[in-house]
Formats: sequence, C-alpha cells, structure tokens
Amino acid sequence: MMDYIPISMIKEYTYCPRQAYLKIMMMKEPPTESMKYAKQTQNTETITKTIKELGIQGEVKLEAPVKSTSLGIVGRTDAVVINGNRAVIIETKLNTGSKKKLYTKYNHILAQATAYAIAVEETMKVTVDKIIIINQEKQTTITIKPTPNLRTWIKRTIQDMKKHIQNQEPPPKTTNKAKCKACYFKDICPP
Ligand code: SF4
Repeated sequence: MMDYIPISMIKEYTYCPRQAYLKIMMMKEPPTESMKYAKQTQNTETITKTIKELGIQGEVKLEAPVKSTSLGIVGRTDAVVINGNRAVIIETKLNTGSKKKLYTKYNHILAQATAYAIAVEETMKVTVDKIIIINQEKQTTITIKPTPNLRTWIKRTIQDMKKHIQNQEPPPKTTNKAKCKACYFKDICPP
C-alpha cells in the first residue's frame, strides 16, 4: 500500500470512490492536460490578482508542498498566504458552480480543499481560517471555513479509502450514471 495518499485522490474518491480506487490500484491515470505549464502561469496570475483584490495580507507561497503525517496524505496546494500563525488557502478550479453547489455537485472540490487545510496546518504549524476557491470560468471566488464538520467528513473519507485499498476491496460505484458516461474506466469498471 502506498505510504501517503495524494490529496488529489481524496477529490477523486469523493467524486466516485470506485474511480479513485481503480486509479490507485492500476496506477493508471487518464491523460491529463498537456498544457500544464501554461495552466500554472495562468494560475499564478489569477491567484496574485485575487490576493490583491481581497486584500489578503501575508507571505504568499505558491505550489506549496504539504503533508499530514497523522492522516497519511500529501500534496501541493495552489497557494497559501501565511500571516503569523494564521493562514488562508487559495485553490483555483475551472468551475465550481455556486457556493451551494460546492456542498453538493462539486463537493469533491470541497473535500480536496479541506484536506489541504488539514495538511497545511500540520506542515506549517498554522491555523487555516479560510479557504478561497477561485472559479476561473466565472472569474468569481467562494470563501469557506474549514469547519469541524468538514474536517470530520474528510477524516472519515480517508479512513474509508484506506480500508478499501488495504483490503483490496473495490468501493461502491457512483450512483450518478452521468459520471460513468464520461469515465475513462467505464469499460473495465466491474459491476
Ligand atoms: S464507470 Fe462510473 S462507477 Fe465506474 S469508475 Fe467510472 S464513474 Fe465510477
């Protein structure tokens, strides 16, 4: 079993548990965007602009590597702004819908952002007060707080994910058939 679970996989697991499991077990990823460099440059510009517009004060760390030893997760958050022992996380996404949708249809983004908050706190010895999610398509931002409820949800999700990986027992499929239609694994996903 892998030592640390990539935080991006927590997002995938929330989107469809089976999909994340297949990716991890087969070590196979669908082809990703080839324009990663261009994406990063655009990300940096958007993040810098947002920090200025929202008047967030502090030291900005872009593409910050973070790890939670207690949860066994590792990743890189788009940006963290550190001010003393407090921090704000900034994540850019193509589309997140409304704030309400972030708690429903797009809850995989919420899951990933909350996992980053926990990992940032452990890595940088700070308290994360806010997570700002930038919706690139709409050029808007959504601010959320990493509440105890969100943290508990993520801890349980990680526990569940680890259990399935350890036991090599495929987790349930998503109930949203629309997700399957566009899925890279649709032809090999067992019933
Ligand atoms: S086919 Fe559907 S259930 Fe299977 S991994 Fe893809 S999205 Fe998940």
